[in-house]
Amino acid sequence: MNNTPSLITDVISAIRSVVGEGTFALHEPSFSVLEQKYLIDCLNSGYVSSVGAYVDKFERLIAEYTGVRHVIATVNGTSALHLALLGVGVSKQDEVLMPSLTFAATANAVIYCGAYPIFVDSSPLNFNIDLIILEEWLKTNTTLEDSHLININSGRRIKAIIPMHTFGHSCEMDLLLQIAKKYHLEVVEDAAEGLGSFYKERHVGSIGIVGVLSFNGNKIITTGGGGAILTNDDLLAKKIRHLSTTARIKHPWEVAHDQVGFNYRMPNLNAALGCAQIERLEDFRVAKRKLNDAYTMAFKNIDSIRIYCEPSNCSSNYWLQSMILSEQVLDKKELLLKETNALGISTRPLWKLMHKLKHFSNYQKTSMDGAELLEKSVINIPSSPHLL
Ligand SMILES: *Cc1c(COP(=O)(O)O)cnc(C)c1O
Repeated sequence: MNNTPSLITDVISAIRSVVGEGTFALHEPSFSVLEQKYLIDCLNSGYVSSVGAYVDKFERLIAEYTGVRHVIATVNGTSALHLALLGVGVSKQDEVLMPSLTFAATANAVIYCGAYPIFVDSSPLNFNIDLIILEEWLKTNTTLEDSHLININSGRRIKAIIPMHTFGHSCEMDLLLQIAKKYHLEVVEDAAEGLGSFYKERHVGSIGIVGVLSFNGNKIITTGGGGAILTNDDLLAKKIRHLSTTARIKHPWEVAHDQVGFNYRMPNLNAALGCAQIERLEDFRVAKRKLNDAYTMAFKNIDSIRIYCEPSNCSSNYWLQSMILSEQVLDKKELLLKETNALGISTRPLWKLMHKLKHFSNYQKTSMDGAELLEKSVINIPSSPHLL
């Protein structure tokens, strides 16, 4: 059994045994001459804005890697989520199921549509939306009317569910799709953290009707800021692409629009950076999986803490590595965060759960035992691809 000072020093030396001396960010991008080359080429082309060869190429490369028919690159992951939700028909007064354990963007995008989030518990087994609690809640709180799912508490239609693949660990998608089918829910995958993650050979974000990725500076690859919508549905892709380009009607010179649209297209300059980064994605993925092995070994001798490892069916990109504190050391979490950050080893607790944020506290929710346990027991540790 560890006492406090030795637990802290054991954790610090376990991390140091993997990453070495020095200071470490939670997640840093990695750039090479390739990124410089494409960026300079893009500048020289004169096409830096939302039309250009790099945008087309980036969309093609993402489509090839994830195995989907259509990719629409956007200015960030949040805008991609917004368009994906509008695309499947989420509208004013609808409700959308999502985990409470997520980044705020998931809930924000629902609210941009004039819809209401319903926060669902997460499973400590994979950090993702708890499918048992989800189905129990659906059984007792909803009814089907003309193939619309109606929430009997609010009288509103529940239109969609957003599974989020936390830290790149995939949801149990087969079961989730079964539940979604039974209850007539559209599945919009928030795979913002999941580029390079697979569920049974299928890339995350390609399994529901539509999925989104993020290429923010802290994600596995970056375009500075950026996102993408993935879908195999031709009509949905067409609709979303149109909305993303201010709903402008195609014409060689006339400028006219047929509805309220959005200026959400990814600029060519960002896509140039993305084209270089995606060439390096497989290296990053391999490095981050090795980092998980190394941390797992290094923490073997600390009984009260373990490193999260993927369950079967999931091949994770390990976007962020997690250590999980066991019951008897939960009270050491704050001290662990304080001491590691003081040494320049960046560590971070989970996001504050959505249902606990003041501006989201009035929305409906399920029981939250799993998410609240995760909030108390998980700490992210340095996860950059170049650490080993
Ligand atoms: C990063 C992220 C997003 C989107 O973020 P952007 O910064 O808008 O690209 C959405 N959901 C989750 C879970 C994320 O981690």
